[in-house]
Amino acid sequence: MSRLMVSVSGIRGIVGESLTPDVVQRYTAAFAASMGRRIVVGRDSRVSGEMVEHLVTGTLLAMGCDVIRIGICPTPTVQLAVENLKASGGIAITASHNPIEWNALKLIGPDGLFLDEQQGRQVVERAEGGDYELATWERLGKVDFYGEAIRDHQAAILKLPFVDLEALRRRKFRVAIDCVNGAGAVFFPEFLQQLGCEVRAINCTPDGRFPHTPEPVPENLTQLSRFIREHPVDVGFAVDPDADRLAILNEKGEPIGEEYTLALAVAFILGKRKGKVVVNASTTRAIDDIAAGFGVPVIRTKVGEIHVAKRMREEQAVIGGEGNGGVILPEVHLGRDAPVAAALTLQHLMESGKRLSELHASLPQYRMVKMKVELGEVSPDEIITKLVEKHSSTEADFTDGVKFLFDRSWVHLRKSNTEPIIRVMAEAPTAEEAHQLARRFRNEITRLME
Ligand code: MG
Repeated sequence: MSRLMVSVSGIRGIVGESLTPDVVQRYTAAFAASMGRRIVVGRDSRVSGEMVEHLVTGTLLAMGCDVIRIGICPTPTVQLAVENLKASGGIAITASHNPIEWNALKLIGPDGLFLDEQQGRQVVERAEGGDYELATWERLGKVDFYGEAIRDHQAAILKLPFVDLEALRRRKFRVAIDCVNGAGAVFFPEFLQQLGCEVRAINCTPDGRFPHTPEPVPENLTQLSRFIREHPVDVGFAVDPDADRLAILNEKGEPIGEEYTLALAVAFILGKRKGKVVVNASTTRAIDDIAAGFGVPVIRTKVGEIHVAKRMREEQAVIGGEGNGGVILPEVHLGRDAPVAAALTLQHLMESGKRLSELHASLPQYRMVKMKVELGEVSPDEIITKLVEKHSSTEADFTDGVKFLFDRSWVHLRKSNTEPIIRVMAEAPTAEEAHQLARRFRNEITRLME
């Protein structure tokens, strides 16, 4: 039996096991009790989405909320719709990059941001304590369908001052796109056409039947790589099922690594105007090198979109995001947004006059390696404390777990909030050095467990 994953920004589980109708109703009711009376509901395309959406909608009505359904759409479209429609909150029904058997509720506050720790804890406590009241018959909510949310989102990007639509339409980029049959399929092909691209789409039927493991990391993009080798294009894009993360492939069909989606966006935006950059603790140090070139600071936060988004708002950052392909541009909204990342990439490519592979090669080059160590009964905090003692003379950052900083490399050790593991991430100028560093710390952890 799988466990229900509860975090401040929502709940996630396997449909029919941990994510049962009862659980969906309890958390939806708790959210409604905390948030207020007008809730936007959107979902990705996965097969269980229809079932979960009916449960969520019915529960919101029972709580006396009016529901604005916006249908299948990317998660950033739900976030933006909450803001645009002046709703009191939103629920995106999506398990993001998780496989087909999963689904989840991502909870959004009235500002279009995911719930933060304080708001999220309130919802979890209410759900666990059954602390909410159902409406009586005369106070039940009603349902509306709003069919323009995708169009609104597309329009918000197309009117960005950095996007030169006329020039892009003249340039006519050839673009391959893989939406893994997720929610990106109802957004991307049309959006890329609006940007003047000649679109070659694969896996763009929004039926939620993922033809490959849906996380857009290089090992899952072999089909798109092969497609690009057979059908020449200027650039390839791949998104996860809720289209907040973008991966980029060059004209040879090689994935440039999802860290470089954000690196490209940061380099482009800082070239337009200088300002603070906010990224999470695990994001590539290519960002620091790029920002140093423009003389602007990089602020690092805990891992997780809400941490980055809130800090961006506080610092009035000009750009930010997470290295997993999640670009946040405050002009559109404070959430990771794959369509925004795609538009910036195309404009950048056009202005550079380079090929994608050359543009990538012009950035500082690092390679990242991710591993995890299963801990069983051993406490992750204890292990991390011991490692910090052992390496007390090494420069360290404690923003999220511990990150040891070396001259041209780093290693980041974080416990998971949902599994008994420690994540080990290392970055260095070459893949071999990154591997070596990650392995060294993995071995240290294993020894400390004995
Ligand atoms: Mg996602």
